[in-house]
Amino acid sequence: MEVTNRYIVTKTHVDGAPEESHFELKTASLALTVEPGSNDVVVKNLYVSIDPYQLNRMKSYSSSQSAINFSVGITPGEGIDAYGVARVVASGNSKVEKDDLVVGLIAWGEYSVVKEGNMLSKLDPMGFPLTYHVGILGFSGLAAYGGFFEVCQPKKGEKVFVSTASGSVGNLVGQYAKLFGCYVVGCAGSKKKVELLKEKLGFDEAFNYKDETDLKSTLKRYFPDGIDIYFDNVGSEMLEAAVANMNTFGRVAVCGVISEYTNGKRAAPDMLDVVYNRITIRGFLAADHMNVYSDFISTTSDHLRTGNMQALEDITPGVENIPSAFIGLFSGDNIGKKIVKIADE
Ligand code: NAP
Repeated sequence: MEVTNRYIVTKTHVDGAPEESHFELKTASLALTVEPGSNDVVVKNLYVSIDPYQLNRMKSYSSSQSAINFSVGITPGEGIDAYGVARVVASGNSKVEKDDLVVGLIAWGEYSVVKEGNMLSKLDPMGFPLTYHVGILGFSGLAAYGGFFEVCQPKKGEKVFVSTASGSVGNLVGQYAKLFGCYVVGCAGSKKKVELLKEKLGFDEAFNYKDETDLKSTLKRYFPDGIDIYFDNVGSEMLEAAVANMNTFGRVAVCGVISEYTNGKRAAPDMLDVVYNRITIRGFLAADHMNVYSDFISTTSDHLRTGNMQALEDITPGVENIPSAFIGLFSGDNIGKKIVKIADE
Protein backbone atom coordinates (compact mmCIF):
# COMPACT_ATOMS: atom_id res chain seq x y z
CA MET A 1 0.00 0.00 0.00
CA GLU A 2 1.16 3.54 -0.78
CA VAL A 3 0.28 6.78 0.99
CA THR A 4 1.02 10.43 0.37
CA ASN A 5 3.37 11.47 3.14
CA ARG A 6 3.43 15.13 4.17
CA TYR A 7 6.63 16.31 5.88
CA ILE A 8 8.46 19.48 6.77
CA VAL A 9 11.77 20.64 5.27
CA THR A 10 13.79 23.82 5.50
CA LYS A 11 14.09 25.71 2.21
CA THR A 12 17.45 27.28 3.11
CA HIS A 13 19.82 27.35 6.04
CA VAL A 14 18.35 29.35 8.92
CA ASP A 15 20.86 31.81 10.36
CA GLY A 16 19.00 33.97 12.89
CA ALA A 17 15.42 33.78 14.10
CA PRO A 18 13.32 31.19 12.22
CA GLU A 19 10.38 32.40 10.11
CA GLU A 20 7.55 30.67 8.26
CA SER A 21 9.26 31.49 4.94
CA HIS A 22 12.19 29.22 5.90
CA PHE A 23 9.96 26.12 5.86
CA GLU A 24 7.96 24.12 3.36
CA LEU A 25 5.42 21.31 3.65
CA LYS A 26 6.42 18.72 1.07
CA THR A 27 4.52 15.67 -0.15
CA ALA A 28 5.87 12.40 -1.49
CA SER A 29 4.38 8.97 -2.03
CA LEU A 30 5.60 6.36 0.42
CA ALA A 31 5.24 2.58 0.36
CA LEU A 32 4.02 1.23 3.69
CA THR A 33 6.06 -1.92 3.24
CA VAL A 34 9.69 -2.92 3.66
CA GLU A 35 11.73 -4.70 1.00
CA PRO A 36 12.59 -8.32 1.85
CA GLY A 37 15.97 -8.37 3.59
CA SER A 38 15.78 -4.71 4.64
CA ASN A 39 16.03 -3.78 8.34
CA ASP A 40 14.02 -0.58 7.88
CA VAL A 41 11.01 0.19 10.05
CA VAL A 42 8.14 2.23 8.61
CA VAL A 43 6.14 4.08 11.27
CA LYS A 44 3.10 6.33 11.40
CA ASN A 45 4.10 9.30 13.54
CA LEU A 46 1.80 10.21 16.43
CA TYR A 47 3.63 12.92 18.40
CA VAL A 48 6.83 14.79 17.54
CA SER A 49 9.01 16.85 19.84
CA ILE A 50 9.68 20.49 19.05
CA ASP A 51 13.06 21.54 20.46
CA PRO A 52 15.28 24.62 20.36
CA TYR A 53 18.46 22.67 19.41
CA GLN A 54 17.00 22.04 15.95
CA LEU A 55 17.75 25.67 15.09
CA ASN A 56 21.49 25.05 15.53
CA ARG A 57 21.13 22.11 13.15
CA MET A 58 19.46 24.38 10.56
CA LYS A 59 22.31 26.94 10.54
CA SER A 60 24.89 27.08 7.79
CA TYR A 61 27.43 26.52 10.58
CA SER A 62 27.25 25.68 14.27
CA SER A 63 29.95 23.94 16.30
CA SER A 64 27.17 21.73 17.72
CA GLN A 65 26.74 20.06 14.31
CA SER A 66 29.99 18.13 14.61
CA ALA A 67 29.64 17.31 18.32
CA ILE A 68 27.31 14.30 18.29
CA ASN A 69 25.18 12.42 15.75
CA PHE A 70 22.00 13.74 17.31
CA SER A 71 22.85 17.32 16.33
CA VAL A 72 24.25 16.97 12.80
CA GLY A 73 23.38 19.70 10.31
CA ILE A 74 20.04 19.60 8.51
CA THR A 75 20.27 19.79 4.73
CA PRO A 76 17.73 22.17 3.16
CA GLY A 77 15.11 20.23 1.20
CA GLU A 78 15.61 17.02 3.19
CA GLY A 79 13.52 15.53 6.00
CA ILE A 80 14.18 16.57 9.60
CA ASP A 81 14.58 13.93 12.28
CA ALA A 82 13.20 14.57 15.75
CA TYR A 83 12.34 12.66 18.90
CA GLY A 84 8.80 11.31 19.01
CA VAL A 85 6.33 8.49 19.49
CA ALA A 86 4.97 6.46 16.57
CA ARG A 87 3.20 3.24 15.62
CA VAL A 88 4.89 0.62 13.46
CA VAL A 89 3.21 -0.04 10.12
CA ALA A 90 5.88 -2.35 8.64
CA SER A 91 9.06 -3.74 10.09
CA GLY A 92 12.17 -5.50 8.86
CA ASN A 93 13.67 -5.26 12.35
CA SER A 94 13.18 -8.28 14.62
CA LYS A 95 12.95 -6.06 17.73
CA VAL A 96 9.69 -4.37 16.70
CA GLU A 97 6.63 -5.55 14.84
CA LYS A 98 3.58 -4.10 13.12
CA ASP A 99 1.26 -2.14 15.48
CA ASP A 100 3.95 -1.76 18.21
CA LEU A 101 4.27 1.66 19.78
CA VAL A 102 7.83 2.95 19.45
CA VAL A 103 9.82 5.95 20.68
CA GLY A 104 12.95 7.41 19.15
CA LEU A 105 14.19 9.50 16.26
CA ILE A 106 11.39 9.82 13.74
CA ALA A 107 10.64 12.69 11.32
CA TRP A 108 8.81 16.00 11.32
CA GLY A 109 6.18 14.43 9.09
CA GLU A 110 3.27 11.98 8.94
CA TYR A 111 5.39 8.86 8.39
CA SER A 112 9.03 7.97 8.94
CA VAL A 113 11.31 5.32 7.53
CA VAL A 114 13.73 4.54 10.34
CA LYS A 115 16.97 2.95 9.16
CA GLU A 116 18.82 0.29 11.12
CA GLY A 117 21.10 1.79 13.75
CA ASN A 118 18.91 4.84 14.29
CA MET A 119 17.47 5.37 17.76
CA LEU A 120 14.14 3.54 17.96
CA SER A 121 12.79 1.26 20.65
CA LYS A 122 9.56 -0.41 21.59
CA LEU A 123 7.55 1.73 23.99
CA ASP A 124 5.76 0.55 27.09
CA PRO A 125 3.57 3.55 28.00
CA MET A 126 3.41 2.33 31.65
CA GLY A 127 -0.12 3.68 31.89
CA PHE A 128 0.94 7.25 31.07
CA PRO A 129 -0.25 9.37 28.13
CA LEU A 130 1.99 8.89 25.09
CA THR A 131 2.97 12.57 25.17
CA TYR A 132 4.72 12.02 28.53
CA HIS A 133 7.22 9.83 26.67
CA VAL A 134 8.07 12.76 24.40
CA GLY A 135 8.56 15.23 27.28
CA ILE A 136 8.68 14.51 30.97
CA LEU A 137 9.72 10.84 30.51
CA GLY A 138 11.77 11.62 27.38
CA PHE A 139 14.88 13.70 26.70
CA SER A 140 13.55 16.89 28.31
CA GLY A 141 13.03 14.96 31.52
CA LEU A 142 16.44 13.30 31.33
CA ALA A 143 18.11 16.69 30.69
CA ALA A 144 16.40 18.09 33.79
CA TYR A 145 17.10 15.05 35.97
CA GLY A 146 20.68 14.39 34.86
CA GLY A 147 21.53 18.08 34.75
CA PHE A 148 20.17 18.80 38.19
CA PHE A 149 21.21 15.72 40.16
CA GLU A 150 24.42 14.73 38.37
CA VAL A 151 25.84 18.06 37.23
CA CYS A 152 24.59 20.36 40.00
CA GLN A 153 25.12 17.84 42.86
CA PRO A 154 22.49 19.56 45.04
CA LYS A 155 22.35 19.52 48.83
CA LYS A 156 19.11 19.99 50.74
CA GLY A 157 18.39 23.61 51.56
CA GLU A 158 20.58 25.00 48.78
CA LYS A 159 19.35 27.98 46.79
CA VAL A 160 18.59 27.21 43.15
CA PHE A 161 17.91 29.59 40.27
CA VAL A 162 16.36 28.25 37.01
CA SER A 163 15.96 30.27 33.81
CA THR A 164 13.25 29.54 31.21
CA ALA A 165 11.53 28.03 34.22
CA SER A 166 8.15 27.42 32.58
CA GLY A 167 9.74 25.67 29.61
CA SER A 168 10.03 21.97 28.97
CA VAL A 169 13.29 21.40 30.87
CA GLY A 170 13.10 24.35 33.27
CA ASN A 171 9.77 23.49 34.88
CA LEU A 172 11.03 19.97 35.64
CA VAL A 173 14.28 21.23 37.16
CA GLY A 174 12.24 23.44 39.48
CA GLN A 175 9.95 20.57 40.43
CA TYR A 176 12.85 18.16 41.11
CA ALA A 177 14.66 20.83 43.13
CA LYS A 178 11.59 21.58 45.28
CA LEU A 179 10.93 17.87 45.92
CA PHE A 180 14.59 17.46 46.88
CA GLY A 181 14.30 20.23 49.47
CA CYS A 182 15.94 23.23 47.82
CA TYR A 183 14.81 26.85 47.75
CA VAL A 184 13.86 27.56 44.12
CA VAL A 185 13.44 30.76 42.14
CA GLY A 186 12.57 30.71 38.44
CA CYS A 187 12.39 33.35 35.75
CA ALA A 188 10.13 33.35 32.71
CA GLY A 189 8.93 35.74 30.05
CA SER A 190 5.34 36.58 31.04
CA LYS A 191 3.09 37.30 34.02
CA LYS A 192 1.02 34.20 33.25
CA LYS A 193 4.13 31.99 33.30
CA VAL A 194 5.33 33.54 36.57
CA GLU A 195 1.96 32.92 38.24
CA LEU A 196 1.96 29.32 37.05
CA LEU A 197 5.41 28.69 38.53
CA LYS A 198 4.39 30.00 41.94
CA GLU A 199 0.81 28.81 42.10
CA LYS A 200 0.82 25.50 40.24
CA LEU A 201 4.39 24.22 40.38
CA GLY A 202 5.33 25.35 43.90
CA PHE A 203 8.36 27.52 43.09
CA ASP A 204 9.26 29.66 46.13
CA GLU A 205 9.57 32.75 43.94
CA ALA A 206 9.45 33.66 40.27
CA PHE A 207 9.87 36.81 38.22
CA ASN A 208 9.36 38.06 34.67
CA TYR A 209 12.84 38.86 33.37
CA LYS A 210 11.34 41.13 30.70
CA ASP A 211 10.19 43.54 33.45
CA GLU A 212 13.72 43.87 34.86
CA THR A 213 16.31 46.42 33.78
CA ASP A 214 19.29 45.30 35.87
CA LEU A 215 19.44 41.51 36.17
CA LYS A 216 22.35 41.52 38.63
CA SER A 217 20.31 43.60 41.10
CA THR A 218 17.21 41.51 40.41
CA LEU A 219 19.02 38.33 41.39
CA LYS A 220 20.52 40.05 44.43
CA ARG A 221 16.95 40.89 45.47
CA TYR A 222 15.75 37.28 45.13
CA PHE A 223 18.94 35.77 46.55
CA PRO A 224 20.24 38.15 49.25
CA ASP A 225 22.47 35.31 50.52
CA GLY A 226 23.62 34.23 47.05
CA ILE A 227 22.86 31.42 44.59
CA ASP A 228 24.27 27.92 45.13
CA ILE A 229 23.05 26.40 41.85
CA TYR A 230 22.15 28.06 38.58
CA PHE A 231 20.49 25.85 35.94
CA ASP A 232 21.05 27.85 32.76
CA ASN A 233 18.78 27.51 29.76
CA VAL A 234 19.33 30.94 28.22
CA GLY A 235 22.97 32.17 28.39
CA SER A 236 23.99 35.80 27.70
CA GLU A 237 23.00 38.50 30.25
CA MET A 238 21.20 36.06 32.57
CA LEU A 239 24.30 33.87 32.84
CA GLU A 240 26.46 36.93 33.53
CA ALA A 241 24.04 38.11 36.24
CA ALA A 242 23.83 34.67 37.85
CA VAL A 243 27.63 34.26 37.97
CA ALA A 244 27.86 37.66 39.68
CA ASN A 245 25.52 36.35 42.39
CA MET A 246 26.95 32.85 42.91
CA ASN A 247 28.13 31.68 46.30
CA THR A 248 31.54 30.17 46.90
CA PHE A 249 31.76 26.72 45.26
CA GLY A 250 28.51 27.41 43.39
CA ARG A 251 27.64 25.24 40.39
CA VAL A 252 26.31 26.45 37.04
CA ALA A 253 24.86 23.72 34.82
CA VAL A 254 24.68 25.00 31.26
CA CYS A 255 21.84 23.06 29.65
CA GLY A 256 21.40 25.45 26.75
CA VAL A 257 21.76 29.09 25.74
CA ILE A 258 18.59 29.76 23.76
CA SER A 259 18.97 33.55 23.76
CA GLU A 260 22.27 33.07 21.89
CA TYR A 261 20.80 30.80 19.18
CA THR A 262 19.10 33.64 17.32
CA ASN A 263 21.64 36.44 17.73
CA GLY A 264 25.36 36.97 18.06
CA LYS A 265 25.33 38.04 21.72
CA ARG A 266 27.54 35.81 23.87
CA ALA A 267 27.75 35.60 27.64
CA ALA A 268 30.89 37.13 29.13
CA PRO A 269 30.76 36.24 32.83
CA ASP A 270 33.26 37.94 35.10
CA MET A 271 36.00 35.32 35.27
CA LEU A 272 37.45 36.81 38.45
CA ASP A 273 34.15 35.86 40.14
CA VAL A 274 34.60 32.36 38.74
CA VAL A 275 38.15 32.13 40.11
CA TYR A 276 37.73 33.74 43.53
CA ASN A 277 34.35 32.16 44.25
CA ARG A 278 35.58 28.80 42.85
CA ILE A 279 32.49 28.48 40.65
CA THR A 280 32.06 25.42 38.42
CA ILE A 281 30.43 26.16 35.05
CA ARG A 282 29.71 22.91 33.23
CA GLY A 283 27.88 22.22 30.00
CA PHE A 284 26.20 18.85 29.56
CA LEU A 285 23.94 16.85 27.26
CA ALA A 286 21.00 14.72 28.34
CA ALA A 287 22.59 11.76 26.55
CA ASP A 288 25.59 11.97 28.95
CA HIS A 289 23.31 10.72 31.70
CA MET A 290 22.08 7.38 30.39
CA ASN A 291 23.73 5.88 33.52
CA VAL A 292 20.88 7.34 35.61
CA TYR A 293 18.16 6.61 33.03
CA SER A 294 16.44 3.88 35.03
CA ASP A 295 16.55 5.98 38.24
CA PHE A 296 15.16 8.89 36.26
CA ILE A 297 12.25 6.84 34.90
CA SER A 298 11.37 5.17 38.20
CA THR A 299 11.67 8.36 40.29
CA THR A 300 9.73 10.49 37.83
CA SER A 301 6.97 7.91 37.27
CA ASP A 302 6.56 7.53 41.05
CA HIS A 303 6.26 11.31 41.43
CA LEU A 304 3.71 11.43 38.62
CA ARG A 305 1.65 8.60 40.12
CA THR A 306 1.61 10.18 43.58
CA GLY A 307 0.77 13.59 42.11
CA ASN A 308 4.01 15.13 43.41
CA MET A 309 5.06 16.13 39.89
CA GLN A 310 3.03 17.57 37.08
CA ALA A 311 3.55 17.25 33.34
CA LEU A 312 3.34 20.65 31.71
CA GLU A 313 2.56 20.18 28.03
CA ASP A 314 1.75 22.45 25.11
CA ILE A 315 0.34 20.43 22.22
CA THR A 316 -0.47 21.74 18.74
CA PRO A 317 -2.28 19.50 16.24
CA GLY A 318 -1.27 19.06 12.60
CA VAL A 319 1.96 18.36 10.71
CA GLU A 320 1.49 21.65 8.83
CA ASN A 321 1.80 23.52 12.15
CA ILE A 322 5.29 22.23 12.99
CA PRO A 323 7.01 25.39 11.66
CA SER A 324 4.82 27.78 13.71
CA ALA A 325 5.21 25.60 16.81
CA PHE A 326 8.98 25.66 16.35
CA ILE A 327 9.15 29.41 15.61
CA GLY A 328 7.08 30.04 18.75
CA LEU A 329 9.80 28.57 20.97
CA PHE A 330 11.96 31.60 20.21
CA SER A 331 9.27 34.12 21.12
CA GLY A 332 8.11 32.35 24.28
CA ASP A 333 4.76 31.13 22.92
CA ASN A 334 4.98 27.75 24.65
CA ILE A 335 4.25 26.86 28.25
CA GLY A 336 5.86 23.52 29.04
CA LYS A 337 6.87 20.82 26.59
CA LYS A 338 6.07 21.77 23.00
CA ILE A 339 4.74 18.80 21.05
CA VAL A 340 2.95 18.52 17.72
CA LYS A 341 0.27 15.85 17.49
CA ILE A 342 0.43 14.31 14.03
CA ALA A 343 -2.25 11.64 14.19
CA ASP A 344 -4.79 10.07 16.51
CA GLU A 345 -3.46 7.23 18.57
P1 NAP B 1 11.48 25.56 26.28
O1 NAP B 1 12.07 26.22 27.48
O2 NAP B 1 10.30 24.69 26.46
O3 NAP B 1 11.08 26.63 25.18
C1 NAP B 1 11.83 27.72 24.85
C2 NAP B 1 11.61 28.89 25.82
O4 NAP B 1 12.80 29.68 25.82
C3 NAP B 1 10.53 29.86 25.39
O5 NAP B 1 9.24 29.48 25.79
C4 NAP B 1 10.97 31.15 26.07
O6 NAP B 1 10.44 31.23 27.39
C5 NAP B 1 12.49 30.99 26.19
N1 NAP B 1 13.20 31.89 25.29
C6 NAP B 1 13.11 31.94 23.94
N2 NAP B 1 13.91 32.91 23.46
C7 NAP B 1 14.51 33.49 24.54
C8 NAP B 1 15.45 34.56 24.70
N3 NAP B 1 15.95 35.23 23.65
N4 NAP B 1 15.83 34.88 25.96
C9 NAP B 1 15.35 34.22 27.03
N5 NAP B 1 14.47 33.20 26.94
C10 NAP B 1 14.06 32.84 25.70
O7 NAP B 1 12.65 24.73 25.59
P2 NAP B 1 13.42 23.50 26.22
O8 NAP B 1 13.29 22.38 25.29
O9 NAP B 1 13.04 23.32 27.64
O10 NAP B 1 14.91 24.00 26.16
C11 NAP B 1 15.40 24.93 27.11
C12 NAP B 1 16.91 25.04 26.93
O11 NAP B 1 17.51 23.78 27.22
C13 NAP B 1 17.34 25.39 25.52
O12 NAP B 1 18.48 26.22 25.60
C14 NAP B 1 17.69 24.05 24.92
O13 NAP B 1 18.58 24.16 23.85
C15 NAP B 1 18.27 23.33 26.11
N6 NAP B 1 18.20 21.87 26.11
C16 NAP B 1 19.36 21.20 26.30
C17 NAP B 1 19.36 19.84 26.39
C18 NAP B 1 20.66 19.14 26.67
O14 NAP B 1 20.74 17.92 26.50
N7 NAP B 1 21.68 19.88 27.13
C19 NAP B 1 18.16 19.11 26.25
C20 NAP B 1 16.97 19.82 26.05
C21 NAP B 1 17.01 21.22 25.97
P3 NAP B 1 10.24 32.66 28.14
O15 NAP B 1 8.84 33.09 27.83
O16 NAP B 1 10.45 32.31 29.56
O17 NAP B 1 11.25 33.60 27.57
